[in-house]
Amino acid sequence: MGELSSYAGRLAPTPSGPLHIGHARTFMAAFRRAREAGGKLVLRIEDLYADHCRMDYADGIVEDLCWLGITWDEGPDVGGPHGPYLQSLRRESHYLPAWKKLMEKGLIYPSLHTRKDVERAMTAPHEGDAEPVFPESLRPEKVEKVAEPGANVNWRLRVEYGTSVRFCDGRAGEREYVAGRDFGDFVIYCKNGWPSYELAVVVDDSAMGVTEVVRGEDLLLSTARQILLYRALELPVPAFYHTALVRDAKGERLAKRSDAVSIAVLREKGCTPAQVLELADHGI
Ligand code: GLU
Repeated sequence: MGELSSYAGRLAPTPSGPLHIGHARTFMAAFRRAREAGGKLVLRIEDLYADHCRMDYADGIVEDLCWLGITWDEGPDVGGPHGPYLQSLRRESHYLPAWKKLMEKGLIYPSLHTRKDVERAMTAPHEGDAEPVFPESLRPEKVEKVAEPGANVNWRLRVEYGTSVRFCDGRAGEREYVAGRDFGDFVIYCKNGWPSYELAVVVDDSAMGVTEVVRGEDLLLSTARQILLYRALELPVPAFYHTALVRDAKGERLAKRSDAVSIAVLREKGCTPAQVLELADHGI
């Protein structure tokens, strides 16, 4: 892990709502770690799932990040050298070739699933979103090679049940997850023609040369899945640093609360960036 030479991190917001102090904690950690390492930071807008994402949210997120003093270094898709990467522009160039590679290696198979499965696969599986372990018995025996993912089927990565995936998280320490117990064959490509969150993130973190992934600790289990995807795609595995979630006095994850205070609202109330970052560091 951490095989790549100089530090590169990323900010990867999903523009499905306004930024709140839970995000501020994670993004500030990513920013500080990149700056302390003398490395770079990219901004990637995870706007894969059009049903949930809005460009006005993306604009608001960029504005809030700048207001908080969180800056980034590159992203060629829009807005010149400092603009963000947009996942919605990377399907043909990045995600389809990855699907093709996995298909040709015989590591994925098509499976019929509902709209709910697609929705679940296209968004990062935060706390409480866990899916049941996919039963091995539902795997097809033979998979024909096809040229395109096609409509009406999702594609799952065949994982070896019983395999243990270990990694040392920069904050949470040693972790171990077992395929078949903690997660099963998971969706990497969806029937709407777009990659799942897990595939897109692995492909992008690798293409962007990310050496350390900083994100919330509710994605620790996703990291185990993603490590199997890095291996399947023969890509170097980055280091990981999962931040603690901001919770309220009852222990509920802030992002789950409908009244979670957005950065924009705190700004309107007259809070300074330092006050917001203080809340993000120490909770509410
Ligand atoms: N875009 C994801 C989210 O906002 C974060 C994914 C990641 O950092 O890997 O929940």
